[in-house]
Amino acid sequence: MEDCLFCKIVKGEVPSEKVYEDDKVLAFKDINPATPIHVLVIPKKHYENVLDVKEEDKEIIADIFQAINKIAKKLGVDKDGFRIISNCGKDAGQEVMHLHFHFLAGGKMGPKII
Ligand code: AMP
Ligand code: ZN
Repeated sequence: MEDCLFCKIVKGEVPSEKVYEDDKVLAFKDINPATPIHVLVIPKKHYENVLDVKEEDKEIIADIFQAINKIAKKLGVDKDGFRIISNCGKDAGQEVMHLHFHFLAGGKMGPKII
């Protein structure tokens, strides 16, 4: 998608601090971290959000969660824990319309969302 910020990050047109990459998934540091470790995990292919992932594309969700599994170990938070959030649509405050999962870690989190 031409005008999508995260597609530009995938193409290297916008810089990012990469944490993990494979052929389908990219993870990079959030520019405005909400927790000491705040990584965005995205599919390289453009989907607007969870609602845009159709039956024929459902494997991408498993690919993303396999990547998350590796990222947790790579960042050394697999024992202490982490939180995954995906904002979908206006009530959730989704700002970037490219499917992404917030990976939050690095300290005890409250019971609230972030
Ligand atoms: P959301 O509100 O779920 O759409 O989250 C979008 C996230 O993208 C926010 O946490 C932003 O801080 C983050 N963000 C926006 N621009 C960039 C960027 N250029 N590099 C890294 N993270 C970004
Ligand atoms: Zn995109």
